[in-house]
Amino acid sequence: MALARLFLVLFALLAALPGRAAPAPTPPARPLTVYFFDVGQGDAALIVSPTGKTVLIDGGPPEADEALVPRLRQLLREPIDLVIMTHPHLDHLGGLAKIIQGVGAKRFMDPGFDHPSEAYRKLLDVVGQKVGQVMTPTPNPSAPETLLSVGLGEGVTLTILWPRTPRDAFLDDTRSDVNANSIVTKLTYGKTAFLFTGDAEPETEAFLLTRPIDFTSTVLKVAHHGGKHSSTAPFLAAVKPQAAVISCGARNDYGHPTPEALERLGKAGARIFRTDLQGEVLAVSNGTTVTLTAQKGRSAPVVVTGQTTGPVAKGPMPSGTSGSVGSTRGKVVPANGKLPASSTKGMRYVSLKGSEVFHSEDCRTLERAKTQERTVYKDRASAMRERRPAKDCDP
Ligand SMILES: [Zn+2]
Ligand SMILES: [Zn+2]
Repeated sequence: MALARLFLVLFALLAALPGRAAPAPTPPARPLTVYFFDVGQGDAALIVSPTGKTVLIDGGPPEADEALVPRLRQLLREPIDLVIMTHPHLDHLGGLAKIIQGVGAKRFMDPGFDHPSEAYRKLLDVVGQKVGQVMTPTPNPSAPETLLSVGLGEGVTLTILWPRTPRDAFLDDTRSDVNANSIVTKLTYGKTAFLFTGDAEPETEAFLLTRPIDFTSTVLKVAHHGGKHSSTAPFLAAVKPQAAVISCGARNDYGHPTPEALERLGKAGARIFRTDLQGEVLAVSNGTTVTLTAQKGRSAPVVVTGQTTGPVAKGPMPSGTSGSVGSTRGKVVPANGKLPASSTKGMRYVSLKGSEVFHSEDCRTLERAKTQERTVYKDRASAMRERRPAKDCDP
């Protein structure tokens, strides 16, 4: 297979162990910086850790690359350490191919949710050629209950909250399953934290709230460009954002941000920043406070105080699971990323027309795409000759 799939655990540090007391945070000297770029209608944010580790979360729409590639070149001297594509929609992945070609990336992570669009397939080709490691947020098979974290140096940690397949099945029957399975991450530094939600849907928020996670975050990257369904009151009550950044295009066709989302954010007490009105938004954390500065307008920098006191995970993730875990999705894949041969005997594999991936025949993606033309392979080896394994069922 062209893309080497590596478990996140290869480079990740495990999240805080249950029961361990958090050390008292001391104000670190070097700052953690987050750039929320002005990419029009879409998302792109760059994290630069105190030690210079870099994470890009999304790459804006296709038309954003003209400005974004030079902007990233200005900020970075080396390839990006990790590129996270929250979900395969064009307003999040459109600029990524040019960024990976023009700036470079050492690792690439996507949610593993199959969405065979032309743009996504083209991006995966570029990733296959240019990026050393490709990963999905799969829990470590030896500790499936533990949240995965990426250490960025000097106590800065990026924890992946969602998705967690195959431990928990992808959300389905939502308003948009592609949005609902966005990668959701929490970045922590001392008492400050940032929550990145992609285009998470209300179902994502409700599901996450059932988990023993501390969502408290100083800065919230508002879900779905301030769409009216996401950023529910219960979720905001758990996040308690001091500041909220909305990434959207000026006079966009979607009416983003919506009055409903703005009202809920205001009621939650968040200072609101908008890339459509204020251009690029810069957020700098010293581990105690976060200073937010907008590129446009005359507003002075806003300083908000971090209020996070402990680890992201409040305890071990509960075992047992929602009834929606199908037989294929519930399995734990061993560390080599493949199932033992015995468990795949007699299984057939199916590829949908126009897709470069194949699924196991009981995959729920196939159920949902009942009317689409398909190719059936009688064994895995023949499927592998023509396609690569889909990331949702990981056949
Ligand atoms: Zn989306
Ligand atoms: Zn979007």
